[in-house]
Amino acid sequence: MTNPTVENLVIIGSGPAGYTAAIYAARANLKPIVFEGFQAGGLPGGQLMTTTEVENFPGFPEGITGPNLMDRMKAQAERWGAELYTEDVTYVDLSQRPFTVRSEEREFKTHSVIIATGATAKRLGLPCEGKFWSRGISACAICDGATPIFHGAELAVVGGGDSAAEESIYLTKYGSQVHMLVRSDKMRASKAMQDRVLSNPKIQVHWNTEPIDVFGNDNHMEGVKVRNTQTGEESKIHAKGLFYAIGHKPNTSLFQGQIELDDIGYVVTKPGSPETSVEGVFAAGDVQDHEYRQAVTAAGSGCMAAMLAERWLSSNG
Ligand code: FAD
Repeated sequence: MTNPTVENLVIIGSGPAGYTAAIYAARANLKPIVFEGFQAGGLPGGQLMTTTEVENFPGFPEGITGPNLMDRMKAQAERWGAELYTEDVTYVDLSQRPFTVRSEEREFKTHSVIIATGATAKRLGLPCEGKFWSRGISACAICDGATPIFHGAELAVVGGGDSAAEESIYLTKYGSQVHMLVRSDKMRASKAMQDRVLSNPKIQVHWNTEPIDVFGNDNHMEGVKVRNTQTGEESKIHAKGLFYAIGHKPNTSLFQGQIELDDIGYVVTKPGSPETSVEGVFAAGDVQDHEYRQAVTAAGSGCMAAMLAERWLSSNG
């Protein structure tokens, strides 16, 4: 169904970036349309729908569950008049104005677009990964490292790049020992990060080592089964947490060839701004951020994108 009117703004994605953009745009009277997503690249509400407690989002001193936080953001966007569709966007045309954004059910023409489709943490696909996800396995040390069960416990990090090195160092604040599992006999991390890892007495690097499964009791993970990639020998490492630092995949396949993406697929934005390579198209949240990847930074950039969209519409309307 094509709507004959041209909308001011379509927001694609409903994580902290998308809903915050929707709140600001709706309050600016732009009557934004939001495609919340359904299956592509995550869930309506985004990555926080897959976690339990969020302890670092300002304003919730006792913590708040991820789904509750996202329900509140959604309600706030709706209260100001954002029009939400729980559908995946399946096609965009950013080459002609007005832009086109389409799902299986409907199509909109729009003067501006905010891309807030997030990124997905890569998983290893271990046999017991589903059972112990958020019960020991985490894709974010900054988010989950301070969880009481990890205090004074042995922890493991998988990966050999800068993120893995950084997360291992960070986790030494909480764990008694951090096992860093590196698949080959060298790390991809920068020399400076490697030096910090190798000189930290609380980090033990296991070279040529890959996880093949995790094990635990009914409630929580207790260790990692690993294999030596050279000899094939299998062994167990006791650890209450396994932190994945093997990269993220930005949800940008829809935009390939239409706006500038970097080598990994993140949307390229102007330094300090959510502007993309196409005027009138803005990007916010994890889809354009491989550094901070936090709910509060995603929300902040969603606010910036909506404010810039509003300014852009006023001067180009
Ligand atoms: P996302 O939350 O990734 O949302 C992306 C949205 O885009 C989703 O709604 C998805 O459905 C939608 N989408 C994708 N493709 C399409 C499409 N084709 N059409 C329509 N919609 C689409 N951060 C913290 O600050 N504190 C924490 O405690 C914390 N814990 C975390 C725990 C876990 C398990 C994970 C995975 C992440 C955690 N994070 C935490 C990180 C935080 O969730 C992200 O930084 C944040 O959600 C990014 O927000 P976003 O809006 O950019 O994208």
